[in-house]
Amino acid sequence: MMKRNWKDWDQLDAYDVKKAQYRQLRQYLRDHVVPFSAHYRKLFAEHGIEPEDIRTAADFANVPFTSKRDLIAPEGEEPKTRDFVLIPDEEILKKRWSTIRNVILRGKKAVKRRFEHEYRPIMMTSTTGRSSEPVPFLYSKYDIENLELSGRRLMEVCDSNAEFRHMNLFPYAPHLAFWQMHYAGIGFDTFTISTGGGKVMGTDGNVRILGKIKPDALIGMPTFIYHVLQVAAEQGVDAPNIKKIVLGGEKVPEGMKRKLRALCAELGSGSVDVMATYGFTEAKMAFPECPVESGVDSPGYHLFPDLGLFEVIDPDTGIPVNEGEPGEIVWTPLDSRGSVVVRYRTGDHISDGLVHEPCPHCGRTLPRLVGRISRVSDVRRLSIDKIKGTLVNFNDLEHILDDLEGIGTWQIEIRKRNDDPLDCDEIVVHVSPSRRGQREKLEKAIETKFVAATEISPNRVEFHNAETLREKHGVGTALKEEKVIDNRPKSNGDSVSNPTNLTNPTTS
Ligand SMILES: [Zn+2]
Repeated sequence: MMKRNWKDWDQLDAYDVKKAQYRQLRQYLRDHVVPFSAHYRKLFAEHGIEPEDIRTAADFANVPFTSKRDLIAPEGEEPKTRDFVLIPDEEILKKRWSTIRNVILRGKKAVKRRFEHEYRPIMMTSTTGRSSEPVPFLYSKYDIENLELSGRRLMEVCDSNAEFRHMNLFPYAPHLAFWQMHYAGIGFDTFTISTGGGKVMGTDGNVRILGKIKPDALIGMPTFIYHVLQVAAEQGVDAPNIKKIVLGGEKVPEGMKRKLRALCAELGSGSVDVMATYGFTEAKMAFPECPVESGVDSPGYHLFPDLGLFEVIDPDTGIPVNEGEPGEIVWTPLDSRGSVVVRYRTGDHISDGLVHEPCPHCGRTLPRLVGRISRVSDVRRLSIDKIKGTLVNFNDLEHILDDLEGIGTWQIEIRKRNDDPLDCDEIVVHVSPSRRGQREKLEKAIETKFVAATEISPNRVEFHNAETLREKHGVGTALKEEKVIDNRPKSNGDSVSNPTNLTNPTTS
């Protein structure tokens, strides 16, 4: 309810934003999180922290972090996720002045109904980790309203139009991206068709809808949208109205944006804004870039300061870094019910940090996360020469491959030589070229760029047609497209990446 006080949510100056955020944080922790979350009730008591004492970022830094490890149960134990769900205590609520007042004004029944609306879990999404147990995240009706609100803001920041036809190509699943987009359509009061991605209708089904609906905006995962547009272009489909492409679910290098614009031109569309979003299960919302011209640096992800508080920390020391400095992204919601995590370490690193200056493009004074986002788990330890492990940052490689002219799609495969767990690691690059011929030139270019970025060279480059690569990616069916696939036998513990030992992967 506090968000109603933020009438000018996107036009406050930096000082007012921070002041309002910490005021809201204090109230939120005091009224909802500490009394109703088993985990945080215990944590705050153990550390002797009172929500009332949290006035500044420095005060907040005394609250211990939460990480994925806290949410996942060790083998054989009960999952701890329930401890993170806000479960209201009737005895506490009964004594609150706001409750007493509402009972007098509206009656007991209406007050009970309001609490159910606010706290009762009615929807669940889940994380999509391949390596770890999926973690469920619960939403109450109140959270769904916030999902609509963040969805409407996504549409506004991306400069969409309620008259547009929106096509949601995210895979249908209990996964934030699909539902964020579904509720964005409802929140923005606009036409949206959700195809369910390749899983439900296949690439062909999506191409058919593209030709029939002639959408103004496409929303989905970059590689899947790329495949749909590519097949549409092959089939000579007409889609002349595309003006916006909004991407989520994976990183979006500049090269991918360029390729998508080129395909839209083939389908008869004019100028197209391609925007990335940053979202994750635990935030229960996603944050967009605003539109900028092709070739202009990304303005960063526009954050919603009344719905959540971001910090950027040094991943080694845990100390918050200064404005605009790189580090790990830490999240605290300011208005969530259902599952709630406080000072949650996302494992995502942002190269140019958190900034509070007005956006140079849209002028909004929202805080922004600027630069490239990369995941700790994308830095992997390879035993190239049997002697020592080499840390390879696959984030860098992805940007290199997407930015290389002549590559349509690609996949990096890590494997063991001869499939022998004790042998060296090998890197195979699978490529579907965007044009015929030029294979030798392309192979050379890939090798040169690899060596420049990582000092290692791929063992092989293998060429495939687009269809084979679509299958390799699990395009449209997997929740995360498999751009880097680790096919090393699991028995060799030494070579399996261990993110907890790694330092900041953005410095390479
Ligand atoms: Zn902007």
